[in-house]
Formats: sequence, C-alpha cells, structure tokens
Amino acid sequence: MGNDGVPTIPHWVDGKRWDGESDRFGTVTNPATGAVTGRVPLASTHDVDTVVQRARAAFLEWRDVPLNRRGRILFAFRELLEARAGELARVITAEHGKVVTDAAGEVSRGAEVVEFACGIPHLLAGRHSHEVATGIDVWSSRQPVGVAAGITPFNFPAMVPLWMYPIAIACGNAFVCKPSERDPSPSLLVAEMWADAGLPDGVFSVVQGDAEAVDALCTHPHVAAVSFVGSTPVARHVYETAASAGKRVQALGGAKNHMIVLPDADLDLAADAAVSAGYGSAGERCMAISVVVAVGTIGDDLVARIRDRAQGLSIGDGADEGNEMGPLVTAAHRDRVVGYVATGVAEGADLVLDGRDLHVDGRDGGFWLGPCLFDRVEPAMTIYREEIFGPVLCVVRAESYGDAIGLVNDNPYGNGVAIFTRDGGAARRFENEIEAGMVGVNVPIPVPMAYYSFGGWGQSLFGDTHVHGTEGVNFYTRGKVVTARWEDPANRGPDLGFPTNR
Ligand code: NAD
Repeated sequence: MGNDGVPTIPHWVDGKRWDGESDRFGTVTNPATGAVTGRVPLASTHDVDTVVQRARAAFLEWRDVPLNRRGRILFAFRELLEARAGELARVITAEHGKVVTDAAGEVSRGAEVVEFACGIPHLLAGRHSHEVATGIDVWSSRQPVGVAAGITPFNFPAMVPLWMYPIAIACGNAFVCKPSERDPSPSLLVAEMWADAGLPDGVFSVVQGDAEAVDALCTHPHVAAVSFVGSTPVARHVYETAASAGKRVQALGGAKNHMIVLPDADLDLAADAAVSAGYGSAGERCMAISVVVAVGTIGDDLVARIRDRAQGLSIGDGADEGNEMGPLVTAAHRDRVVGYVATGVAEGADLVLDGRDLHVDGRDGGFWLGPCLFDRVEPAMTIYREEIFGPVLCVVRAESYGDAIGLVNDNPYGNGVAIFTRDGGAARRFENEIEAGMVGVNVPIPVPMAYYSFGGWGQSLFGDTHVHGTEGVNFYTRGKVVTARWEDPANRGPDLGFPTNR
C-alpha cells in the first residue's frame, strides 16, 4: 500500500508477492470511472535478474519432474481456473474496462490451452526407429529450453499469457510473465492459482514493468525463449533485441483485419458480424474487424444495416451486466483513437456514426468513445493505413472480388481476415489466395482452437512460430536425436571401415 492508500500490485517471485527494489511505479486506473486503483512497480534490470535467477533454479528441478506429475498439476490448475473464472473476469474488467461477459470469454478461451497442455505426455512423445543398422537404434525426444519469458499486451490480460505458459510449463520450462503495466492484476491471481495447484515455487513468476523490464528479459543470459504479443513496432524491437542476444523469439504484432462482403452474402448476418467484430471489446482486439470491404453495389445497404445495429448498442461500465461495450483502456488511448476520428473526417471519409459525444450517466471520469462508422474510406487515408485499436469501423467500396482481394493482400499486416458469401467456390478460392494467417469463412473473428496455432503473416508476426498448439510445443522445446549401439557381444572387435548401415 502506498502512502496515498492506493494498493501496490507487486511481482510474484518464488511462490510469493514481492515489491521489488525499483523506485519507479506505474498507475493503474478503472477505465469506467477514471479512478486510480493501484500502483505497479516498474522492474529495474536488477529486479528482472532476481526473478530470472530464481526461475532458472526452479527450472533445473522442474525439468526432471515426471510427465504424469506435471499433468496432474495442470489438471489441478485447470480446475482452479474454472472455479475462480468469475473472480478473474471481474479483475480483468476493473483494469481493462471490457464487459464482464467478454472477460469471462477470454478466460474460457485461455483455459482451452490448459486443456491442450494437459495432454503433455502425448505431445512430447518422440519417435523410435529400431535396428537402423546392426545393433543400432535411433530415437528423438523434445527437451525444455530453460527459462521462457512472455511479454503480453493490455487487451487480453488473461488469455494472451494463457496462450503461452500452460505449454511452456508443461514442457518442463520455467516461465516469467511480464504483463502489461496497464492491467497487471490478472497475472497475479493466476500466480496464486498455480501455487494452489501445487506448482513448485519459481516455475511461474510475474515481473511487472515497462520497456526496461522487457529489454532486460530480452537480453538476460538465462532467458532462452521470448514470446511477445503487442504492437508491431515493439514486436519488431523485441524480435531484433532478443534474436541478436541468441534467444528463440516469436513476436506477434498489430493488425488491420478486413472483412470482405460479396454481393451474394446474407447482409443481415454480415452486418451482425461486422458490429460484433468491430465494436466488441471496444475494438481493442487484435482480431477485431477494422475494415469492411463492400463488393459491388451493396455498399449503401450494408452501411445502413451496420449503422442501425451499432446505434443500438448499450455502452456503459463493463462491470454492470447487460452492457455490450465498455470504455477504452486509458484516457491517453481514448484520446489517440478520437484523434484518428478527427483525421478521418479531415481526410474526407464519410463519418456515418460519430461516437465522440457519448455520455455515460454517473461515469463522467470514464474513458468513453461510442461506436464510430466511416464510409467511403480510401486506401491512402490514415484511418485505413494505421491500426486504430478502438471502436472505429471503416467501410471501403470495391468494384470486384479481385479488387477486394488485392486490397487485403497489399496490406502490410496479415493477422485475420474474413469473407462473407453464399458461394462455396468463391470462398474456397479466397482461403487459398488470401495472404493472412487466420481466415474466416462467414466467421468474422477466426481465432484458432487451442490445438491449432495462432498467428499472423507479414507485420503481424516476427519469427517463424505461431503460438499454442503443436507449434507452441515445438517453440518451448528443443529436439534431440539419440543414436545408440548396444553391440551383441558375439560381434566384438574393432572395425576401421566407414559405417555403412548394414
Ligand atoms: P504494446 O506494444 O504497447 O505493449 C505490449 C507489451 O510491450 C507490454 O507488456 C508493454 O509493457 C511492452 N512495451 C511497450 N512499449 C515498449 C517498448 N518501447 N519497449 C519494450 N517493451 C515495450 O501493446 P498494447 O498497447 O499493450 O496492446 C495492443 C497491441 O497489441 C495492438 O497493436 C494489438 O494489435 C496487439 N495485439 C496483437 C495480438 C496478436 O496476436 N497479433 C494479440 C493481442 C494484441
């Protein structure tokens, strides 16, 4: 607790809370009220070293814990996550602002990765080749890398770390989580659950902080692997810093996701999807739809349907049930998004719905912005080119399927994309031609299940490996192949010839 009565949201090291030694702090607010609810220590390089050293010591023992015992701890963690899901969702809403049903949804999707990781004995099974040459067998195994760091964004404070640590830990690594300093509490709650599930101290740690902590993790000699999710400039920085320090890195960046609506689509379904995917979580999702491409002559009709639906959304404090959209995460971010709306108007886009005057009764200090809808957006405009990360949907008109696909493939990002159509042939051609990592056919937010892997193309990913699923297992392990000869004593004697595998 600080002198001002504001609670400190500390690190988690060696199975307990730790305030660290840094004298720098960040401020945590409730986005619906604007009230300061916590202060978070911003770890120094020295603090990070303390955490990583403990994690390294824990790793050296954890890697030898048998697979079935690791599995039992994962099952116990899964039970605790389910039992405390409501509490976790409320903590997310209090710092992030998203509505509590949405927060519960992210916990539930994250828990699916734990369920996947519970199958770790099967996932780590290697291959065995008997008698590849006389008396020689060969087998492969996958072994943990050591200490893995996860650096995560504000927008999914539970789910994005859950993409990483269940698999990293199941594979025998220690994991250091560096959550966003804007919503640091969910990771602490999760740390308590790991401890209650029986995970040995030090295998899961939380270090709170900002760029200094990130750079310290990316260059620490005992960090072997870095998973990052956040904006593209920071993803590129993390990739370059950690890779040049010899780490394996997966760095997922920003997005500009398009939804193409073909003239034959069910326009009601398409409008429902555009509103859900564009304004859900106030547009603060890396898989949010930010551009709707209306193909042919459907533009006016589609825009009217989207506008009518968006106008009817109930916006308010995410903690109050019944609200569909909450505030933005901070005042600075709200102001940045409002700035984009002004730029869109100045550059000549048609602002069909303007959410800037939104007033929420009794919540004057909140970081509010209602749904904004732009029509007739052109590819050269700033609101088309840059990631806005707020409740701002842009409609671009395209004459043909070819124009629409060209638009998407020219975009530097390649995270998610969707097509809405009733034409199976067009959809099949689309999923083949489109250059993006996650493709939806009549599904606006095609987030892969835990047993597939999540990741984009282009500037949405730096590195080669997507997160979770089998790519996650590969990322958090190194392959080893053993070639062994147990010679039959009857064949003893030196042989100076070249091995011929006979
Ligand atoms: P951010 O890049 O500002 O922060 C992400 C993390 O990096 C945080 O932990 C933060 O402390 C740290 N960080 C911030 N600035 C840094 C710097 N200069 N040097 C080193 N570390 C730094 O992202 P955000 O605002 O928290 O999250 C929103 C962004 O994340 C959006 O761009 C969104 O598209 C992206 N995102 C991508 C995915 C994906 O799967 N591709 C998923 C979720 C969010």
